[in-house]
Amino acid sequence: MSELSISIDEDYSHLREPVRQLCKRFPGEYWRKLDAESEYPKAFVDALTEHEVLSALIPEEYGGAGLPLRAGVAILETIHESGCNAAACHAQMYTMGTLLRHGSVEQKQRYLPRIASGELRLQAFAVTEPTSGSETLKLKTFAARKGDRYVINGQKIWTSRALQSDLMILLARTTPVAEVEKRSHGLSVFLVDLRKAKGNGLEIRPIDAMINHNTTEMFFTDLEVPADALIGEEGHGFRYILDGMNAERILLSGEALGDAKYFLRRATEYAKQREVFARPIGQNQGVAFPLARAWAQTQAADLMVRKAAGLFDAQRECGAEANTAKLLASEAAWQAGDTCFQTFGGFAFATEYDIERKWRECRLFQTAPISTNMVLAFIAQKVLGLPRSY
Ligand SMILES: Cc1cc2nc3c(=O)[nH]c(=O)nc-3n(C[C@H](O)[C@H](O)[C@H](O)COP(=O)(O)OP(=O)(O)OC[C@H]3O[C@@H](n4cnc5c(N)ncnc54)[C@H](O)[C@@H]3O)c2cc1C
Repeated sequence: MSELSISIDEDYSHLREPVRQLCKRFPGEYWRKLDAESEYPKAFVDALTEHEVLSALIPEEYGGAGLPLRAGVAILETIHESGCNAAACHAQMYTMGTLLRHGSVEQKQRYLPRIASGELRLQAFAVTEPTSGSETLKLKTFAARKGDRYVINGQKIWTSRALQSDLMILLARTTPVAEVEKRSHGLSVFLVDLRKAKGNGLEIRPIDAMINHNTTEMFFTDLEVPADALIGEEGHGFRYILDGMNAERILLSGEALGDAKYFLRRATEYAKQREVFARPIGQNQGVAFPLARAWAQTQAADLMVRKAAGLFDAQRECGAEANTAKLLASEAAWQAGDTCFQTFGGFAFATEYDIERKWRECRLFQTAPISTNMVLAFIAQKVLGLPRSY
């Protein structure tokens, strides 16, 4: 197998600068107001769509820019580094990949150009269930084939942006666990048209959460979807979802890196100008060293994110790297956030400084899309070959 070369110089500055300029139109007060009202950042998402940022990874033949995943990382990182939040729309970048890699030509032609133009939003990804949690293979939502339709029953939780999406990727069981050789078999992926499903077998309830993430729980009661909503082959859905999960982990690592860089910039600026005991607080090593450490951790995480994206773009196995990138970037963001919080003293608690909001938001990366323990279990078992704990 050929060596993987990762270009440190290719940083997509031509993509980052326009994104940076666009983000300037959405300052802290915009996000604070939405946060207080649990509102969706529609104007921000519309602006990203208009500037063709959200279609960056869609192939040119379907109306996108056809850029690699690494470019998506650069875009999301820049959004977060600028103090904005891409959670409202990032899913389009990885859910679209499931359709692109495993959908039929007809499905791709029908949906991708309209997703690229922003006419349709594919931003919801329904995997997690309340009873199975991290044990995805135990999910219970069932899609039964009835003639030219599937009838879906079950429940999902934490399906973010379901109320702001037109389309949703759904993972459901199509063959009962008792009838499959391996639990990873018998799961299928569907592209659900939420516009038709809502109120016709699908009920969506918002969850009031610590952060403004527009997340929901969903109840399926005899929801009928046409048989051509199935993506790829019936029963092979778990494999399709895994591809998408690696993309999701790498892209969200970019967001975590962006948060880490945001916190470092804010903390460093503040530490230089805030004077206590007649000198800038940053002159005290007790303030400076944690910032220096957070910078070093962020740099290390950045390299792993680049490696994971490089492997993904080369269509090479990248499970260990995608998970490790997510682990390191989420921890770098948290460390930088906590250090920034401490640097700002009492002012970190004042909402107008945006530190507490960003700090709350970046906590999510250690829990979703996969929690830290699950990443460590993956590394322990799959990379180090240690005995399985579950
Ligand atoms: C704001 C938000 C948005 C989300 N958006 C989406 C979305 O859009 N779509 C979607 O499908 N999901 C979404 N999720 C769900 C998210 O992926 C899950 O919350 C996450 O994977 C953890 O699952 P759980 O909450 O069921 O925790 P559990 O599986 O109940 O685990 C609880 C804790 O126990 C630990 N644990 C469990 N088993 C083991 C073990 N064997 N060894 C060691 N530790 C273990 C876990 O690591 C975790 O820390 C979202 C969650 C949040 C909070």
